[in-house]
Amino acid sequence: MSCQGCYEHEVFARNKNHPEPYDLDAILKTTARLQAGAATLHGGEILLMPLEDLTRLCEQLQAQGYSLSLQTNGALIRDGHLELFKRFKVSLGVSLNGPGALNRDRRLGSERSTDATTARVRENIVRARTAGIHVGIITVLSKTNAGDAYKVEALTEWAAALGEEHGVWDFRFNPLHDDSEEEPLIELSPAEAAAAYVQLAAATFEDERRHWLPFREFVDNLWGLGLQPCWMAPCDVYATGAVHSVLGDGAEGNCLRTAKDGIAYLRAGSPQGFRQDILRQIPTEDGGCKGCRYVRVCAGGCPAEGEGGDWRNKSRFCKMYFDTYAFLERRLRGLLPNLTTVPDWTTNDEADLMASINNRRPLVSPINPMRPEWSRRPSTFSNQAREERKP
Ligand code: SF4
Ligand code: SF4
Repeated sequence: MSCQGCYEHEVFARNKNHPEPYDLDAILKTTARLQAGAATLHGGEILLMPLEDLTRLCEQLQAQGYSLSLQTNGALIRDGHLELFKRFKVSLGVSLNGPGALNRDRRLGSERSTDATTARVRENIVRARTAGIHVGIITVLSKTNAGDAYKVEALTEWAAALGEEHGVWDFRFNPLHDDSEEEPLIELSPAEAAAAYVQLAAATFEDERRHWLPFREFVDNLWGLGLQPCWMAPCDVYATGAVHSVLGDGAEGNCLRTAKDGIAYLRAGSPQGFRQDILRQIPTEDGGCKGCRYVRVCAGGCPAEGEGGDWRNKSRFCKMYFDTYAFLERRLRGLLPNLTTVPDWTTNDEADLMASINNRRPLVSPINPMRPEWSRRPSTFSNQAREERKP
């Protein structure tokens, strides 16, 4: 769909937009060698693959023990695909940035044909839901759909309606990053991105059914229950933690967000934490993360969003992450003043503490003063609860 800001744009440009040939036997040989887990079928646009190849891929991956999901632009879904999704229990992920004008970072010739395709994608989502298929949506935020509060409000209403009307409650909102300098510039400024994220975070907590991410993940992070999504954990661009890709020729690669020069680099042996270790040593005023209240739950953000297009730098959306965490802490503490979030945890062994958080087995409980086992006077708010600790 020639979407502006697509993070695989450089790869397509290098290929002169010709689909690369693929070798299913080589792909399946590699997946058989790897430890089976959750596999996401991904493109480019994965539904350009002939249905019989897709069926063979699903059959073999399922036989190898993988659970399946698929990420698509949603425009090409036919009845045969729906049957395939049901047969192999494929969870459907659709990339959609909103209704009508909010989705015009897709470029299908004219606004009219872009809008017609947007409407068709929505119809396909409804068809999938009617067929009982799970659907989640990834929405990429740019000036087009999140450049001001009115647009974010419209986006929120659209997402909420998809939940109420069709049971689509799983959304992920990602900021668009675009280093191409192509006009018009659609990447959100740091201030716009921060305002949009805080507004979406506030909307998320209006309804417990809204599994809108990363906002709920950020709350888990503040609670010590992991580091999600992958942008909040250390990520090595040569061995990306969250993505172990199998490329079309069966080679093992990385998250294609890192293919900034159009080259899908092969995977290095074991991940290194150089970037995060160095960012932690550079003060925030000099462009690093040292001294930032949220360094334990952010780690500099996704390397592909590095300032100036350089993965070594911290994310250009630093303000967005900081403001969102600060907003969430205010909300949590407003309700539970005795809550002790991860930034306030003390330790003699930082590495051990971080490992326990990563493993979702935190060494500290954020609700200690509220637990009868911990305090003589458990309470969500009283000072006594914190002071009268049981021996
Ligand atoms: S490059 Fe970014 S999106 Fe990709 S795995 Fe790493 S942190 Fe996640
Ligand atoms: S919020 Fe900004 S300064 Fe803080 S850890 Fe994240 S990127 Fe670094």
